[in-house]
Amino acid sequence: MPKYYDYAASTPVSLEVLDSMAAWQNKSYANPSAVHLEGESAKDAIRKSREIVADKIGAMPSEIIFTSGASESNNLAIKGVAFKHLENKGHIITSSIEHKCVLNTCAFLETLGFQVTYLEPTNEGLIEPGAVRDVIRSNTILITIHHVNNELGTIQPIDQYGSIAFEHDILFHTDAAQSFCKLDIDVDDMDIDMLSLSGHKIYGPKGVGALYVRDARDSGLVPLIHGGGQELGLRGGTSPTPLIVGLGVAVSSFPSQSDIDHSDFQTTISDYKHSRNGGEKTVTTIWNVTFSDDQELNRFKDDNDWLVSQGSACNAMSNVPSHVLSAIGLSGDEARRTYRISLPPYKQQ
Ligand SMILES: *Cc1c(COP(=O)(O)O)cnc(C)c1O
Repeated sequence: MPKYYDYAASTPVSLEVLDSMAAWQNKSYANPSAVHLEGESAKDAIRKSREIVADKIGAMPSEIIFTSGASESNNLAIKGVAFKHLENKGHIITSSIEHKCVLNTCAFLETLGFQVTYLEPTNEGLIEPGAVRDVIRSNTILITIHHVNNELGTIQPIDQYGSIAFEHDILFHTDAAQSFCKLDIDVDDMDIDMLSLSGHKIYGPKGVGALYVRDARDSGLVPLIHGGGQELGLRGGTSPTPLIVGLGVAVSSFPSQSDIDHSDFQTTISDYKHSRNGGEKTVTTIWNVTFSDDQELNRFKDDNDWLVSQGSACNAMSNVPSHVLSAIGLSGDEARRTYRISLPPYKQQ
């Protein structure tokens, strides 16, 4: 059996989560917007999940908008702010090593006339706060920089971007798909105005996530999906009770990091000559390694039947080196010898 070491791409649904979802699929299936008893109980279950998610990041339940995942949350945050400024357009600051859903959203907004600055990382994968400050313009409307890089595992200093944004009265959004539940986040302490998260990176179901929006009701964010007023009118569509309940249970049952023991992996990987990318401040679960030559790479591949990613899962279909590895200065040949090995965020059940 190959060993699954691709947890940054997706995780299994934990048994606890699976159990919590079942009844909402075919026993209590009423529309949570319905005003009868069954509808009320679905609404109540969703309310509990909203509290759990909010609590995890120091937010208010009324600031959590459930979406289909982090891609949609990122789209809603970035387009939602941009569309408020359709008339005069404006300037957005991001980095060149964001997830493709952020980069492609920004590229789309450029076609509408918005200006975007893509900050380059250091060779360690860090987006320097000073660089953010340097490119602020009088018409900057949004800074959007991820928390943990999904290919490198680098932890970005989001609290520093947050305070820079706050000082300049600019909105700050962060894609926290790789850090939510794994690192401490407090949206007030860190001056975060919007934050994206995803269920299937934390042992929850695929197809659900959330966007935290500071003072959501008064944010003026423009929805992408107009509908029946669900999620404060910011995201139309019948709320998927089973998925939202599953997300809540995934958050509340996510164990503490002290459960982690990656010594087996570390012993194995140390047998092969490699360098680890991503700098000093990385999460323990994402290892981006460049094998020193083809011989080491092939020896590693022959010895270990591991399911890992070259770049991220999203780049796997194309043969071009990942945009992240190019950005930190790896050559095409080095990128070819590079794997992202991502370990379970905690012991498997
Ligand atoms: C997985 C991931 C996404 C996409 O999340 P989905 O819920 O699959 O849409 C976005 N950003 C980062 C950093 C991710 O790791």
